[in-house]
Amino acid sequence: MVTSSRTRSRWRWSATGWRKADAKAGFLLDGFPRNVPQGRDAEEDALRADQKLTVVLELVVDEDEVVKRLSGRRTCRRCQRVWHVIYEPPSVPGVCDELRR
Ligand SMILES: [Zn+2]
Repeated sequence: MVTSSRTRSRWRWSATGWRKADAKAGFLLDGFPRNVPQGRDAEEDALRADQKLTVVLELVVDEDEVVKRLSGRRTCRRCQRVWHVIYEPPSVPGVCDELRR
């Protein structure tokens, strides 16, 4: 689980990236903020970076689906590529596609 302070640090890193040319038209944060305090922090950080949060979406997902998504994730120990055994399986089960190239 990502702690609040760790997530906030990630946000600050992202805030630096907003100033890059490819972020001027907008950006999407996926998985953050995860709660109201983080949302408030994000809004404050955005204002400091002369940005504005225009929309915040809360996706409500069935608990069984969440378990299915989380339990199916795999991370390659060598290249750190993340895949899912159901939604994005490698070409050869259990073998990272990046290592097969
Ligand atoms: Zn790999």
